[in-house]
Amino acid sequence: MTSQQHRSKSGFETRAIHAGYEPDPMTGAVIPPIYATSTYKQDGVGGMRGGYEYSRSANPTRTALEGVIAALEEGERGFAFASGLAAEDTLIRALCRPGDHVVIPDDAYGGTYRLFDKVEQVWGLEHSPAPVSDVDAMRAAIRPGKTKLVWVETPTNPMLNIGDIEALASVAHDAGALLVVDNTFASPYLQQPLTLGADIVVHSTTKYCGGHSDVVGGALVVRDLEVAEKVAFHQNSMGAVAGPFDAFLTHRGLKTLGVRMDRHCDNAEKVVEFLTSHDQVAQVIYPGLEEHPGHAVAAKQMKRFGGIISFRVTGGEQHALDVCGRAEVFTLGESLGGVESLIEHPGRMTHASVAGTDLEVPADLIRLSVGIESIDDLLGDLDRSLGSAD
Ligand SMILES: *Cc1c(COP(=O)(O)O)cnc(C)c1O
Repeated sequence: MTSQQHRSKSGFETRAIHAGYEPDPMTGAVIPPIYATSTYKQDGVGGMRGGYEYSRSANPTRTALEGVIAALEEGERGFAFASGLAAEDTLIRALCRPGDHVVIPDDAYGGTYRLFDKVEQVWGLEHSPAPVSDVDAMRAAIRPGKTKLVWVETPTNPMLNIGDIEALASVAHDAGALLVVDNTFASPYLQQPLTLGADIVVHSTTKYCGGHSDVVGGALVVRDLEVAEKVAFHQNSMGAVAGPFDAFLTHRGLKTLGVRMDRHCDNAEKVVEFLTSHDQVAQVIYPGLEEHPGHAVAAKQMKRFGGIISFRVTGGEQHALDVCGRAEVFTLGESLGGVESLIEHPGRMTHASVAGTDLEVPADLIRLSVGIESIDDLLGDLDRSLGSAD
C-alpha cells in the first residue's frame, strides 16, 4: 500500500503506524533509519537520488515524519520544525507582509502571544486579540482587506475555552483570510481542523505528538498546494528544520498517539469525576463537563475531551501552591502531553507573565496534564495533596 492510499483509506491508528514510509527497499528496515547525513552523493551533476541534495532542504527521516503528520491531519503536506514556535514563525513570515494584520486568541499560548507582540510586530505585522469562544467578537476583530490570518487555539490554555472551527473558518474565509488552528492540546487523534474547514494546522509536537517529554519539535500541515509551496520555500530559506534524531523520536511517538490519547482521556475523565465531588475543590474546568460553556461545540468537533484539566481550590492561592508542592506522582512542572502526569500553578508558572493584564488567571487555579499512569495512584496523590476539610 502506498502512503497516499494510507491517507485516503486507512483508519487513524493504521495511518499513524504505516503512513509516510515504505520499508526500506534495500534492507527491509521497518522503521525509518536516522539519516545522520548533511549531504547526498549525486550520480553525475544534478543526478539526485530521490530528490535529496542537502539536509536543510530535505532529509529522509524528516520526510517520513512529515508524511505521517500530514496523513493524520488529513492534509496535503506536512512540515517538521525544530520547535512549535519555529513552525509558527515560518508560517507567519510565509503568509504575511509588513502592514498586514492577524486576529489571535485573547488567551493564546504565552509563547505565541510573545511572538506576535514582541517579534512580528517589530516587522510591521499588527495583531488583535479576541476570545475564540465568541464567533462575533472574532469577526469584529477582523480588519477588512488587512487581516490575512485568523489564528485559533481550541481548547485554550489554561481555561480550556473552545472555538467553533467550522464557524470560524467561514468568518475567516468571508474576509479573504485563512484560518490557522493550533491543534496542540487536542492532537490529531481528537480533532482534525482541516476536515472542519481550517486551512493550516500548527503543532507543538513537543506535547502529545511526541508524547514522551524527550524532544522539542513543531509541525505545520496545510491543505492547499499553493500555501504548501510558500511554506516549503520559507522552511528551506529560514532553516528552522527538525533534525533527524528529533524527527525520529517524534515519529516514534506518533505511532502510539491513538492508544495514549485514549488512556489520557480515560484517566482525565476519572480525575474530573473525583475532583468534582471533592470538598476542597471549588470548580472543575473540563470541556467534557456539561456545564462547561464550550461543551456542545467540543462534543461536535472533538472525538473526546482530552487530558488537560484545570481546577480551583477552596483555600485560595496558598492552598493551590500547597497542593502543587505536596503532589508526588504528579510532577511539578511546565509543559504537557507526556506520558507522565504534571501539575502546575499557572498564575506563578506558565502564566506569570500575564499577571496584571486582562489575561490574568485566577490565583487559586491549578492545571493538570493527566498522564497514563495507574488511575488509583493519580487519585490517591490528588486526594493526599488536596488535604482534608479540617
Ligand atoms: C508548547 C506550545 C507551543 C510552542 O511550542 P514549542 O514546541 O514549545 O516551541 C505552541 N502552542 C501551544 C498550544 C503549546 O502548548
